[in-house]
Amino acid sequence: MTRTVYVNGDYLPETGAKISIFDRGFLMADAVYEVTSVLGGKLIDFAGHVKRLERSLGELDIKKPACFDDLLTVHRELVARNDLVDGMIYLQITRGSDGDRDFTFPDSETTEPTVVLFTQSKPGLADSTLSKSGARIILVEDIRWGRRDIKTVQLLYPSMAKMMARKAGCDDAWLTEEGVVTEGTSNNAYIVKGGRIITRQLSHDILHGITRAAVLRFAREAQMEVEERSFTIEEAKAADEAFFTSASAFVMPVVEIDGTALGDGTPGPVAKRLREIYLEESLKSAI
Ligand code: PMP
Repeated sequence: MTRTVYVNGDYLPETGAKISIFDRGFLMADAVYEVTSVLGGKLIDFAGHVKRLERSLGELDIKKPACFDDLLTVHRELVARNDLVDGMIYLQITRGSDGDRDFTFPDSETTEPTVVLFTQSKPGLADSTLSKSGARIILVEDIRWGRRDIKTVQLLYPSMAKMMARKAGCDDAWLTEEGVVTEGTSNNAYIVKGGRIITRQLSHDILHGITRAAVLRFAREAQMEVEERSFTIEEAKAADEAFFTSASAFVMPVVEIDGTALGDGTPGPVAKRLREIYLEESLKSAI
């Protein structure tokens, strides 16, 4: 099926959609993005994603595109036009193009940001086989830039780390810096020890996950103990269980870290429970 995508105000078949070769998203990775999950045709955590998008744009001084206040309509229109039931909507905003290449930013008075949205269909997204078996992850050095709290499209290193995981016969990678885990290639990382959920505190070092915020809120509401602090590689390998969160993976149990099986090597009870709660509660508030 030919997808209908959105480019700068127009709904177009994917094969007919175009942006400039001088677009700064293409030349400089000068762009931010968001990913919103769709379950049963409804958007999950939409308000949180728009709020983070606004922050990412502000941190990079990219002006808000004219369609910013209509983003809910655009998302819903793409769901409808693509008959999307389960899947994701990707949104990318670049600093645009002033028709040439230069390191300095173009004048934002005269250069409009480029806005692109497209859908990905993933039937049965909430029922993935990986969520039942649990993910096996490797650890790799985190050599990304220092503003990981901004959701930029600089995804080369996370892509490379995912390829390293694949080469090692695993599902994903967690990134480490000076012996502590920062986050996953495209998710936030958690361990569970003695019933306590431990996840790195927010800072410039990690992306402020929208799923993370929701999951920690649900965990606290369910009287689970949460500790927001860095954890070491040794703690991760000695954990009772582990999991990661993201908009597309929800709560994903981790059963093996760098060849060390956690617990009995199957998804742990805390991860399973949090996945259930997250899916149940976010479906209730989906729009
Ligand atoms: N960290 C990184 C590096 C990510 O790419 C993502 C997913 N975009 C996350 C964390 C999880 O964020 P969210 O829950 O908002 O999808």
